[in-house]
Amino acid sequence: MKKQFMDEELRRIFSIAKKEKNEALASRYIEIALEAARKSHIKISKELKLSYCPKCFSVFKRGNFSIRLEKGKKIVKCLKCSHVKRFPYK
Ligand SMILES: [Zn+2]
Repeated sequence: MKKQFMDEELRRIFSIAKKEKNEALASRYIEIALEAARKSHIKISKELKLSYCPKCFSVFKRGNFSIRLEKGKKIVKCLKCSHVKRFPYK
């Protein structure tokens, strides 16, 4: 499978998950997409990495996450499971 194809596929699944109103189902989509990416050794783009919680697989959307900047880092917190992710900020 071509890497570019997988990346597109991932984006597609993420966008479906974002639109999904059933949160459990949306999380399941993310989980499946990430599992497929892992198996295919696909690097998940930074943009996608910022859009879900790696712990509970929630899709970040308005109201269920917080984002703040601190000492050159972007700190993303999932308000569902309180998982915190830090990204270098340029
Ligand atoms: Zn979470």
